[in-house]
Amino acid sequence: MQWFQADMHVHTVLSPCGGLDMSPVNIIRKAKEKKLDIIAITDHNSTKHCKSAQQIGSSYGITVIAGAEVNTEEEIHCLAFFENLDQTEKFQQFIDDKLMVIRNKPDIFGHQLVVDENEDIVEEEERLLVASLKAGIDEVAKQVALLNGIFIPAHINRPHNGIFSQLGFLPEYIRFDALEVSRMNGMKDFLKAHPETAKYCLVTNSDAHSLKQLGSSPTGFYLEEPTFQEIRMALGNINGRKVNKL
Ligand SMILES: [Zn+2]
Ligand SMILES: [Zn+2]
Repeated sequence: MQWFQADMHVHTVLSPCGGLDMSPVNIIRKAKEKKLDIIAITDHNSTKHCKSAQQIGSSYGITVIAGAEVNTEEEIHCLAFFENLDQTEKFQQFIDDKLMVIRNKPDIFGHQLVVDENEDIVEEEERLLVASLKAGIDEVAKQVALLNGIFIPAHINRPHNGIFSQLGFLPEYIRFDALEVSRMNGMKDFLKAHPETAKYCLVTNSDAHSLKQLGSSPTGFYLEEPTFQEIRMALGNINGRKVNKL
């Protein structure tokens, strides 16, 4: 087994706040340059860039995990990851069904573009993707579990859109595969103040919205090979797979 460097929280130009240079191909090239082995594409409430990013990633030798950063009814950001495109598409249907319909205003919020490997625009998403879903965190978690996905509350120590800022606690009845902490917000003090986080696997990611940010806060995974199932085992500390300690 060996260590693989991963950045599991990356936005593309499909997220309204994602830089225009955040095309899948640019992200993969930058990931290669930064010696990342694994990245996950996690646009706000959308999985529509995952397929092309995976295709491009495979030609660069980079594992791309399909995912999304969903915004629950409580305005909690959560990362959801899926093993294959069939499950990813089913989750996209769930999002389409639940996303609050607000029209994007590109001048205010930014463009939401799906581009191909040549960076040609194939679609402009018209619904505002940073809106929330009409589904609470428990319903979203259930849906991810039904699709055998991985479910991780994002940036739990941020003052906005984290599970502590929105709910104030970690519900015992929801299964979290890990918790994502942000290195920016007094992480160590926060974890000390919330000892209930100690029983969870903790990961850090860049939450990159620009190429410069990509890989700025990677998590090391000790795996046999860089695959979804191996990552799941590492999060659960199973069969010798593990995640580097913070
Ligand atoms: Zn977020
Ligand atoms: Zn994000």
